[in-house]
Amino acid sequence: MKLTILGCHSATPRTNTNPTAQILEIKNHMFLIDCGEGTQVELRRNKVKFSRVKHIFISHLHGDHYFGLIGLVNTFSLLNRETELHIYAPKGLKEVITLQMKLSGSWTNYPLIFHELSSKASELIYEDDKVEVYTIPLKHRIYTNGFLFNEKENERKLDINLVREANIDVAYYRKLKQGFDVVNEDGVLISNAKVTKDAVPPKSYAYCSDTAYHEAIVPLIKKSTVLYHESTFLEKNEKLCLPTRHSTAKQAATIAKKAEVETLILGHYSTRYNGYEDFKTEAQTVFENVVLAKDGKVFNFD
Ligand SMILES: [Zn+2]
Repeated sequence: MKLTILGCHSATPRTNTNPTAQILEIKNHMFLIDCGEGTQVELRRNKVKFSRVKHIFISHLHGDHYFGLIGLVNTFSLLNRETELHIYAPKGLKEVITLQMKLSGSWTNYPLIFHELSSKASELIYEDDKVEVYTIPLKHRIYTNGFLFNEKENERKLDINLVREANIDVAYYRKLKQGFDVVNEDGVLISNAKVTKDAVPPKSYAYCSDTAYHEAIVPLIKKSTVLYHESTFLEKNEKLCLPTRHSTAKQAATIAKKAEVETLILGHYSTRYNGYEDFKTEAQTVFENVVLAKDGKVFNFD
């Protein structure tokens, strides 16, 4: 599992900071999460192949989370994309994008498929044999979802030397990976545990931005491998959280602690701050394993 931060600041794009967008690589997928202004430039800068982006998840319709989408959708067309593009977003986004395209006489030469969200309860919005994605309903000024990306259980690993020694036909390898005992070529039942190793534990990534402090998400993101939680403000500016429905670094850390996640990534910093070390220091008074998002930063969680 690998996370590339394309942008992690709130509000406006500036010379050296980008609004929110990130790429999550998980089980051969490249999921784009949010698409702030300038995302296509950052995708190029980070050498993400456009054709590999097939699913885009938009948390909410504040501009710093989706103003890059119309540009990206158009660029895909100009590049003669043929691959389907799925967009998971709050209801209304389809209207916005199609109106922009209609008024500019544009169209896509690839299937553009909207999955509009309106449920206030967590729901499964994507699933295949390796991954599932759930919404995480958040508490913000407008309808907002975070997203939980779960790897499914991995297969057991064959100890190939032991498998061969046990004289097991290749046709049974799949059964072994699935955890079954099998009969070898001499008709002897071989215990699975003798020739396989435990599967790598599945990983999960919880993306929560934007949101006020919201304990209701804790059961949904319990024991996630990684939690990205917005921390727009420091505690000294906590009074700004209520009208804007954002969180402080300390509040983000409190959610991380209650949810018993392994790693907390902070981001969505207000552009009022010049440095971000104070966010880490503040969060670490509550939860130890904190890292700071930074534009262009890559996190590997293997
Ligand atoms: Zn917002």
